Amino acid sequence: MTIVIGLGGNVGTHEEVLRRLQLARTALTVLGPTRYAPLYRSAPIGPVQAPFLNSAVSLRLDDVQPPELLATVQEIEIQLGRRRRDETRWGPRSLDLDVLVWDDRVFRTPDLEVPHPRLTERRFALEPLAELLGRDHVVAGHTLEHWLSSVRDQQVEHLATTW
Ligand code: ADP
Ligand code: MG
Repeated sequence: MTIVIGLGGNVGTHEEVLRRLQLARTALTVLGPTRYAPLYRSAPIGPVQAPFLNSAVSLRLDDVQPPELLATVQEIEIQLGRRRRDETRWGPRSLDLDVLVWDDRVFRTPDLEVPHPRLTERRFALEPLAELLGRDHVVAGHTLEHWLSSVRDQQVEHLATTW
């Protein structure tokens, strides 16, 4: 199965956030073979706050259950300094790992909704996903190309292909 995890963060200097994203990427490689998308800088959604760095990692896994995967990604967030109780909704976060897609599966458990419920309206998640899966890939009934064309007004800047 192929699972794509979106990565983001905006607490600290550019170097600190980048380092955290790199460590998260490395931590994910422990689960199985990975590929990673380019690095982007995106304008924040929600309250006034620093821009985010974003990317995504695709994972090839033989066998994992949703609760197990969510526990693993949340463990990586905590290991790398995320403290959820200090955060406000849509506010700054040191590291955010979101399960964007899981093959073509659509499911909802109390703790995990796949595809990610806000994926199709967020350019910072769609751009790296399209780099990994291609613009013709279909999510929620439409191609990523289609979804991307609807979020053109959101500011997302390509920073680097390798990082
Ligand atoms: P954000 O929506 O900004 O990513 P959080 O990272 O704090 O907010 O996540 C809030 C909750 O969203 C998590 O506790 C998790 O249980 C739930 N959740 C639901 N679907 C997903 C998903 N696809 N990926 C990650 N978390 C998810
Ligand atoms: Mg999250």
